[in-house]
Amino acid sequence: MTVRIGVLALQGDVREHRRALEEVGAATSAVRTVADLAAVDAIVIPGGESTTMSRLLGVFDLYDPLRAALAGGLPAYGSCAGMILLASEVLDTRPDARCLAAIDMTVRRNAFGRQVDSFETDLHVAGIDGAPVRAVFIRAPWVERVGDGVDVLARVPAEAGESAGTVVAVQQGVTLATSFHPEVTGDLRIHEHFLSMVRRG
Ligand code: GLN
Repeated sequence: MTVRIGVLALQGDVREHRRALEEVGAATSAVRTVADLAAVDAIVIPGGESTTMSRLLGVFDLYDPLRAALAGGLPAYGSCAGMILLASEVLDTRPDARCLAAIDMTVRRNAFGRQVDSFETDLHVAGIDGAPVRAVFIRAPWVERVGDGVDVLARVPAEAGESAGTVVAVQQGVTLATSFHPEVTGDLRIHEHFLSMVRRG
């Protein structure tokens, strides 16, 4: 059976996620309306700018429906700004920015930015077999607290200096979030992992 994964298409790197999802065998569609949301088996929230996406969720009347769909068990994956939106608490954001509370975690926005804006590193990600995952971080958040029931999938390795040990990939049930952007590297294993989560339900 074909799985249809929606990509929230208000802002951000929507096209890159759709391409990666299609390459691993999902059908995809852009989600901008409640009707679009109702037509998908899962949703990806792309990288971009979380405060802008938060504002646009309000403008497009999607905030409440999306939050309710996530609370009702719609599988979701958020990368970077998408991770911020899936959090239950966000530090260093605008006071009016809202998040969707799909994962019980506290995320600090632009956390690495205090040291360096963007960087790449190889990560061991739990559940992803084979070579380490090449992770691209662009003004990325990190995870400062996870609740019970949240699995930590990856931490920044020791070579990364000051930020070593920081949590950068988590999963709670059918919801996945990464600080980094697998959609820009051509390594499809994170998208494959998400698709198998959606298939398992
Ligand atoms: N810094 C951005 C934010 O706060 C996230 C950056 C990204 O998605 N690459 O939303």
